[in-house]
This record gives sequence, structure tokens and C-alpha cells, in this order.
Amino acid sequence: MLELSKYKSETRPDWCPGCGDFGVLNALTQAVANLNIDPKDLLVVSGIGCSSNLPGFIHAYGFHSLHGRAMPIASGAKLANPELNVVVTGGDGDGYGIGLGHFVHAMRRNLDITYIVMNNQIYGLTTGQASPTSAHSFVTKSTPAGNIEEPINPIAIAVVAGATYVARGFSGDPKHLTELIQNGIKHKGFALIDVFSPCVTWNKVNTYEYFRQKCYKFNGPDYNTSDTMQALLKSRESDPKIPIGLFYETQRPTYEEQDVTIKMGTPVKAPLGQPDPNSLFKEFY
Ligand code: SF4
Repeated sequence: MLELSKYKSETRPDWCPGCGDFGVLNALTQAVANLNIDPKDLLVVSGIGCSSNLPGFIHAYGFHSLHGRAMPIASGAKLANPELNVVVTGGDGDGYGIGLGHFVHAMRRNLDITYIVMNNQIYGLTTGQASPTSAHSFVTKSTPAGNIEEPINPIAIAVVAGATYVARGFSGDPKHLTELIQNGIKHKGFALIDVFSPCVTWNKVNTYEYFRQKCYKFNGPDYNTSDTMQALLKSRESDPKIPIGLFYETQRPTYEEQDVTIKMGTPVKAPLGQPDPNSLFKEFY
């Protein structure tokens, strides 16, 4: 195991005291340390939002991209250097709202990327509007009479869209969350870890206390993580209890393993100037 201090960034998190994202940062740091992933072999990519500031708070390669666009950046980096451990971090608004299309396509391609979504069921950075995971009837700045939309179900979407590792954790349960993230990074293929990460400033309903009372762990001998239907049924549970754990895991070839260009060698290690770009341009003259 590597020292946790290896990942310590000079930039301190700017999150509100008590924000659930601290727990996710700690769990991610612990997971990469347990896996002996050197900071030079780790890339953390994010979109926009409070949680998307995370790449600045861990000593590794980082890319703070555009709102909802972390996945295309991460996909490009992974295809250029498949030897890199690529982790995408962001929020529910960023990933399940504006970024939903990229999320779905990355899953069907089964890129070997780990996606950690800090799901606080509200837009925190913009001071408290309803997000794609906000509950029906939830009163926010943008829904003063109560949210009239049903929340998205990211676990079911991931299972159906082709993700090969689908889990949900809670930032108030760091040991369990570290285990889910660690196994997600180890998993060969697209891994989603949706994390209940309370926004202590703008969401006064989905609090630490709320999740401590509602969440339960379901993995055990009676649960088959390779059963798609069981995963879908489990993903629909929300009342009175919400399941956290590993919903689904399977193996199939990753995009990188099948790509003909990558089969010729790691692109970033190809000698510069090969092939000659001018010979390619001449095809269009
Ligand atoms: Fe965290 Fe909410 Fe503060 Fe953003 S506004 S840093 S999500 S507690």
C-alpha cells in the first residue's frame, strides 16, 4: 500500500464544512493507495459543479473540463494511453443531466473507466435548484411548489446501457465506499459508483441522518451480482429502505481491447512523426 501523503494536493478543498464530497475524496485516495497506483499513473477528470473540483484536491494528473463533458475527455485520454487509470468524478447534475448522453455511450462502449458520481440530489454550486435525481415534491429554489418530475434511476440506466460494474455507496460509510471504489478501479470495463453525498448547505432533506436511517447493505449469499433482472429490481427499491452495494458485475471485452489501432501499440508510445501526417493530408488534396 502506498502512503496516503503521496496523493496530498497543495490545494485544499473549498467545499462547505461537512460536505459529503470530503468522504468521497478520502475514499478515492484510500482506494488508489490500497491498489498501489502511483500518482503518475492516475488521471482524474471532472465536469463542472462543487464535486467536479475534486481533481484539484488529489495529487495526480487532473483535467477540470466543461459541464457534462468529462466523459469525452476521459475517453480520449484512455484511448491515447490505455495504461492510465482513468477516474471520472462529478455530480448528479453534471453527469445525469447535461452529460447523460456521454454517460450512456461510454457504458455501451465499455471503456475501462471508473465513474464516481457524487449524488446530492440538488444543484449545489448554483445555490440549490432541482437536479435530475431530486425526489418528486422536493421544494427547491427552482421548484417552490414542489418538484413535479420523477427522479432518474442511474443504477437501472447503467445496468441497461451496458456498464459492467454498477454500485452505489454513501459518503457517510467510508469503509464500504472505499471497497466499492477500489473494486470499481480494479474492474476491467466501465464502472459506475453512484454515491449519496449530502449537500449540507442546500439540501436539508437528504441529510447524513436521512441516509443513515434509510440505507441498507444487500450483498450476501442470496444476491447474484451477475443477474440483470435482480439488479434492476433492486435498483427500484427506495421505500422504506434504499439499497447500497454492488448491484451488478459482468465481464465483456473493453473498447480498448477491441480497437484495431490500440492493438498496434499504445498510441502515446508511438514514435512521433509515424505515420507521416503529410501523406494523410494528400488524400484530401
Ligand atoms: Fe458541498 Fe453543497 Fe457546499 Fe457544494 S454547496 S460544497 S455540494 S455542501
